[in-house]
Amino acid sequence: MTATASLAERLDAVRSGVADAAREADRDVAEVTTIVVTKFHPASMVRELHDLGVRDFGESRHQEAQPKVAELSELDATWHFIGQLQSKKARQVAGYVDVVHSMDRDSLAAALAGNTLDVFIQVNLTDDPGRGGVDPEGIHQLAEHVLDAEGLELRGLMAVAPLGREPRQAFATVRELSERLRSIAPRADALSIGMSGDYREAILEGATHLRIGTAITGNRPTAG
Ligand SMILES: *Cc1c(COP(=O)(O)O)cnc(C)c1O
Repeated sequence: MTATASLAERLDAVRSGVADAAREADRDVAEVTTIVVTKFHPASMVRELHDLGVRDFGESRHQEAQPKVAELSELDATWHFIGQLQSKKARQVAGYVDVVHSMDRDSLAAALAGNTLDVFIQVNLTDDPGRGGVDPEGIHQLAEHVLDAEGLELRGLMAVAPLGREPRQAFATVRELSERLRSIAPRADALSIGMSGDYREAILEGATHLRIGTAITGNRPTAG
């Protein structure tokens, strides 16, 4: 894609890339939800994407997302929160999103309890605790907290492929962790894996939710 390709062209290119990868994986493309990550982009772009048929949007910062979602309240859209979430902001975020992909600790489950939300447990595949996500060994305990929390529906696992690691291999690890999680949470079978650069690999490893930013929106106006 050239830098001058339009939003519609980039969206089409990703849609065909997703369809191709689903075919390659022998999967039904309808099993894969593409969330367009609109962080750092204005509400006007969300409207354009909505006109192009997008219904799932991802945001990562409360400060930015809250006014944007409020401005777009008339849209028929599902909002996904994908960024690190402070417990003190949790209640406010729960007020305007439908899905939280970044559940990573017991205190966050407690803070979100009582709200009707779909939840993905984010797994940290790096050795850096600052990256967000729970270590693989912590998944089961956190899952039990989420399962016990009123209103929260545990959907599955979310992860970002670490820099410097083959994404397919990283996603295969997540798929194995997901199989183990299902021994205690049989319905938590969704996988939020795959971004602009690695969604094909994610689909091949069973992704049900892709979080795609720049491949569709173009470069973000500020670093993010
Ligand atoms: C920004 C972001 C994305 C989208 O990244 P792109 O490389 O622009 O597709 C996906 N997931 C998370 C958690 C993000 O913060």
